[in-house]
Amino acid sequence: MKYEEALPHQLDELIKTCPFAIIPWGAHEWHGPQNAVGLDTLKAYYMSLDLVAEVGGVVLPPVYCGYQTMKPYKEFRHTLEFPREIVYSLVLQYLDQLYDEGFRLILIVMGHYGGKHVETIQEAVQRFNDCHSHAQAVAWPDYMPAGWVDVRGGDHAGKNETSLLMYYRPDLVDLSQLPAEGDVDIEIHGVGGEDPREATSEHGEMLAKLFVEQAAPKIREMLDEVLAMRDKSRGRV
Ligand SMILES: [Zn+2]
Repeated sequence: MKYEEALPHQLDELIKTCPFAIIPWGAHEWHGPQNAVGLDTLKAYYMSLDLVAEVGGVVLPPVYCGYQTMKPYKEFRHTLEFPREIVYSLVLQYLDQLYDEGFRLILIVMGHYGGKHVETIQEAVQRFNDCHSHAQAVAWPDYMPAGWVDVRGGDHAGKNETSLLMYYRPDLVDLSQLPAEGDVDIEIHGVGGEDPREATSEHGEMLAKLFVEQAAPKIREMLDEVLAMRDKSRGRV
């Protein structure tokens, strides 16, 4: 279910039975000449929709608000860089608002992996958790669940990210924009990781399915815990 498309009675029912919300969080950022600039956020959004289709819950509209992007790194264009404090407060606001609406498990799927950006989101999540004992928030980079079974997914516009966008939105990838020969690198092309010229939608599909396969049982487990806490706080057990 998409939050913005839900009717009030559908959200009421969901909050009663499965108070789980995902916020896909990314950036507008240069991702090589071959990918749409919304790659980080788009992949996190589609992965979130797949996860909710498996476990229930709701997906918020994706948030395009990235800190520590390719812009301050090497002035790569078409990139919107937000200050740390904006990211921090926006995360906290979303978590507080969703809590106020009755959601008790909130997952932020992070499509943008800038180290300081990830750290900022995790700090806001920690702050939320410190203030709410009957709810839980977590923030995972989208490649993390695959990492639990030793599949390395994270890169920057390399084979993995490019494959994920090819799987979900082939219309937004054009490999012919990359040089036909020679190296593809981070300084010149803004591409890091394995060669994106080896990207395929099959590889993207494998990463996307592994995300759901690994994330779903953890989410169910955490959801059981927060539901038990909620019942306890209402004196039902
Ligand atoms: Zn990326």
